[in-house]
Amino acid sequence: MKITNVRAVQPETPTSPPDWRTSLGQFLVAIDTDCGLTGYGVGGGGLAGVHVVRTVLRELLLGESAENVKALWTKMYDSTLAYGRKGLVIMAISGVDLALWDLRGKAANLPVARVLGGNIGEPIPTYTTLWSDITPEMVAEHDAFKLHVEHRTDGDRLAAVVAAVRSARETIGPDRKLMIDAWMRWSLDFTLAVADAIEPFGVDWIEEPLPPDDVRGYEELSARCPIAIAGGEHEFTAAGFELIVSRRLHTILQPDVCWCGGLTELVKIYDLAKQAGLQVCPHRGAEIWGLHAVAALDPTPLAESGRPWMSFVGGQPEITRGKITLTDKPGFGAVIDEALFEGCS
Ligand SMILES: [Mg+2]
Repeated sequence: MKITNVRAVQPETPTSPPDWRTSLGQFLVAIDTDCGLTGYGVGGGGLAGVHVVRTVLRELLLGESAENVKALWTKMYDSTLAYGRKGLVIMAISGVDLALWDLRGKAANLPVARVLGGNIGEPIPTYTTLWSDITPEMVAEHDAFKLHVEHRTDGDRLAAVVAAVRSARETIGPDRKLMIDAWMRWSLDFTLAVADAIEPFGVDWIEEPLPPDDVRGYEELSARCPIAIAGGEHEFTAAGFELIVSRRLHTILQPDVCWCGGLTELVKIYDLAKQAGLQVCPHRGAEIWGLHAVAALDPTPLAESGRPWMSFVGGQPEITRGKITLTDKPGFGAVIDEALFEGCS
């Protein structure tokens, strides 16, 4: 199965802005082969990510065997080593890697979860991520919630965060899971103050309180914080996660398969976590690109709800009463409108 073309495009939809400077810039990759199969993936980095695929990664892959997923990942990583390793280039490689895994599934006529040795058909528990307050209607539909609180900065910040957590717990009752996300915006001292104040409200984890490179801060938090620390959506490759695992910076690892280097790296990150007895809860894990790994590799899965910016990907199973179930479609099961690639050679 030789690769005959690698195409990349940034679909412009109202929910997917063509801006690479935010994490929202997702783009589509298509890999065509001489046997007529096309694999699809999604990477990050918007128009800049598209440029990396079109001008660098495409040439590396043309004429290669699509089956050699690991070797092709290494070739892409090594060829971009001087300016890659983390961030935008790895986000671009992620989209290509996912397209190769999609081909792998399609060539075997199996869902990617089955290729990974797992099963499909079991409903997978999910949690829903919110930037607004939880409503009673949401409580009827979901079993677990994560609240973004980094934007609560008016007046007394500590009081504002505590009030949001208290209100969320009162709305969802005592039994449902509740997590909070600070999106890299807090300091060590502020995080510890928040943790002490919200401990009575039963919070399962605090996500990304500090910037990812604040290794010392995270070491201190893991030693002193009474609430589990989650993170990793802004970390890249298994090598990046090795540091997190070896220093025990987080209890819950949250790689994003469309950013961290693709499924090739996500599988390695699951292995690292398993050896260390840590939990993996991928960022946007309920989206089809991550859901196959969640279903296949995690005995106690919890998948995060998807994002509206992925609206250009069809075939996404719905979350019903807090659960999501994979279909048996080959590959990732993505349904992509080829018209999105119009004008893309
Ligand atoms: Mg987050």
